[in-house]
Amino acid sequence: MRVIRRWFIHALVILMLIAPAVAEARLLRRGMRGQDVLSLQHILVDLGYDLVLDGAFGSETEDAVRSLQAAMGLTVDGLVGEKTRDKLAELQASIVLHTVQKGDNLTKLAKEYDTVVRNIILYNGLKDPDHILPGQVLYIPTNSVPALGLLPLRRVTMQWPVEGRISSGYGYRTHPVSNTKHFHGGIDIVAPEGTKVQAAASGKVSSVGNRGNYGLSVVIEHAGGVTTWYGHVSKVSVKVGEQVKQGQTIALVGSTGLVTGPHLDFRIKIGDQTVDPLEWLP
Ligand SMILES: [Zn+2]
Repeated sequence: MRVIRRWFIHALVILMLIAPAVAEARLLRRGMRGQDVLSLQHILVDLGYDLVLDGAFGSETEDAVRSLQAAMGLTVDGLVGEKTRDKLAELQASIVLHTVQKGDNLTKLAKEYDTVVRNIILYNGLKDPDHILPGQVLYIPTNSVPALGLLPLRRVTMQWPVEGRISSGYGYRTHPVSNTKHFHGGIDIVAPEGTKVQAAASGKVSSVGNRGNYGLSVVIEHAGGVTTWYGHVSKVSVKVGEQVKQGQTIALVGSTGLVTGPHLDFRIKIGDQTVDPLEWLP
């Protein structure tokens, strides 16, 4: 699988290098739309930028290009010409995406990809390097590591989905309804019924529906194998497959599922594992 992925990335890069010789690539700038803009956005997302893949070169895409140009020592003009395009290809070629498997650790991965542990930690913004989780996607910067200049872009930046008091934190607790002790995989944020629930980060809606005790819920997929979960909502305003922007209203606070009153149960997962949202929220 890893070999195939590596091969695939290399094939893509070779295609990207050949393509300009076949047809002169156009200079991309803000306001443009098209397949080439979408390709650019895909590369930027692969490099860790939090973007909506819509094929439209808007302010988000321009900000990402500027930030990359600044990190790479290029002229910061937000335009994608030959130099920026070459740098993108070079960066993409030097980074391998690795999906963490059971039994992986950073020492093993560093050896496997001929790099050093410190660079993997830095590039992925890992707070707890001893606990990488199966399903988590790590970006492994190989050899030259020009990509380190991109820090700390790697981590998905989150905002609060609703404002309110936290009635129940992450970890072990006694459930207020069933009165049994169990592990709470999220945080409960109290807010009035009908309060707007906003996407914690940009991403793609991967699931909408009823999940038993968790009630009516929305799941959004982000970069790096990260998903955010919004439970007990009363109304959902997005569809599966839809790209959403950070801060966009996706649902309304409700009291569906097993609850004592209206609140949002907000969760963050890496792969299949929940993590403490308070470590991710500003
Ligand atoms: Zn909860």
